[in-house]
Amino acid sequence: MNDAYAHRIAKICVACNSASIRKNPAVLMPFIAERVFGWTPVEITQDWGLRDIKAGQAYSVCNTLTCDDCGLIFLDIRFDDTEMAALYCGYRGDEYNALRDKYEPGYTANNTWRREAGFAHISAVETYIKRHISAPTRVLDWGGDTGINTPFKGQLATHHVFDISSKLLVDGATRVSADEAAGNEYDLVTLMHVLEHVPYPQRTLKEIAAMMGKATVLYIELPYEELVRINEESPGLARQQKRHWHEHINFFSREAIVRLLKTCGLRAVDISTEQGFGYSVLCRLGH
Ligand SMILES: [Zn+2]
Repeated sequence: MNDAYAHRIAKICVACNSASIRKNPAVLMPFIAERVFGWTPVEITQDWGLRDIKAGQAYSVCNTLTCDDCGLIFLDIRFDDTEMAALYCGYRGDEYNALRDKYEPGYTANNTWRREAGFAHISAVETYIKRHISAPTRVLDWGGDTGINTPFKGQLATHHVFDISSKLLVDGATRVSADEAAGNEYDLVTLMHVLEHVPYPQRTLKEIAAMMGKATVLYIELPYEELVRINEESPGLARQQKRHWHEHINFFSREAIVRLLKTCGLRAVDISTEQGFGYSVLCRLGH
């Protein structure tokens, strides 16, 4: 089926639907493998009695894929809804952090700032958005965690948050389901640091596009990964360099963003990396 949603192991590009993809072997990082699938690294020894398998350390294998048409670099495994819930429910909670510290010693100690303070660059985001629209009053933060990073927070008549986690929201924010959000009108929808995590970015964007009106603006922020930046002209090299996969399962080139938006009935009004915090993308309905 020529539908990126249908694939458990991606066979076409999840941004632009091209079938022209290439692969290279990689490993799924043990934290992800255990949290999502319950798979742990294992030492294969002679005791296993396997005739054709060599002894040694075994990790969960996967493939790094690259799209010849748009330059997207992505993990071949596409997690389903229950697996996404296993990975992100209780995100950076005690259980999450304990498992992560087991495989990545020092993770919690090095990341305490992330839990409370929120992003430091939100005022720059607000300035960027206000270059294109006047200050919004009705905002939906899609994948917005507690709402702590929602641009214009504290100045809004409507501050809605849609998120897979069930954390307590910041003052002034209201949690909404996707169905509830679809029944509302928003000046601005924000999608910050979501698309690099989701298995089917088209599905996420089509859902958002369906609830946008002509005047609604969508602000997307996602990483401009170092691997993409240094291999802009040679995605083949990036494929060979990308030997492990963690929470970010999609690495976007600028072209991948443009084509992804197009497949979802959205038009990029502006794509910028100037601010120094990844891609800032402003889009509206239309081609
Ligand atoms: Zn593509």
